Amino acid sequence: MQLTDLKWPDVEALSRDMPVVVPIAALEQHGRHMPLFTDSLLLGEVIRRVSERLKDRVLFTPLMWLGNSEHHLDFPGTMTAAPRVYLDLLKDMVENFLFHGFRRIVLVNGHGGNIVPASQAMFELRQKHRERSDLVLVSTTYWTLGAQPQKADRSLVQDHMGHACEWETSMMLRLRPELVGDYKAVQSISQEEPLAPAHRAWITKDRSTPGHIGAPRQASAEKGEMLFRMFADDVASFLERVIAWDGTGSSS
Ligand SMILES: [Zn+2]
Repeated sequence: MQLTDLKWPDVEALSRDMPVVVPIAALEQHGRHMPLFTDSLLLGEVIRRVSERLKDRVLFTPLMWLGNSEHHLDFPGTMTAAPRVYLDLLKDMVENFLFHGFRRIVLVNGHGGNIVPASQAMFELRQKHRERSDLVLVSTTYWTLGAQPQKADRSLVQDHMGHACEWETSMMLRLRPELVGDYKAVQSISQEEPLAPAHRAWITKDRSTPGHIGAPRQASAEKGEMLFRMFADDVASFLERVIAWDGTGSSS
């Protein structure tokens, strides 16, 4: 169910146990071969597939396209909220639905830079509303829900998400091929993080001159369809878990 299509009495009539999903993405550089709106287009497609399946069991807000993309600012066209502004923006969007009486709010994310702020926003809201025992405040990112695409298709060369990489380029070839540039001519850039698993602070220029990270030349529309399917399956079954959970802890 799409929030944008409802009238306010329709919203008033909804069960307050219905999960509200706020999709969050970005508008930022995606290398020389992919459009700035990549993350928003890809998450939009994942959400479109999921919402077709879950129909009237989940309320979807419009996708929030402005993200935490400061690390990409050296590349023209990138738009970003300052990290602290973004944190407050997410909190405000969630608070709107708490104010309307909804109890289960899910941020479904499609951009790496949003992972930390999304989780921090929910953390802070839980502290603020600590007298409540009926809230389910959760954030997740569509490619981190368990899918292991490389195990399903050995032709994939990447085993995890990069940036404007084999995976994202494949999905864009499936979704909007006319927006993809000459990806076959693009050199691979290592996804390796020498100090992993520690988290090194980086700006994109530290890791990539053209802006992508990964192996876009290995992309194909067929791989893209498989990735969309796996990610939409994961998000749909995750939301089924949110619907099914009674919202209480398991300890006695
Ligand atoms: Zn991306």
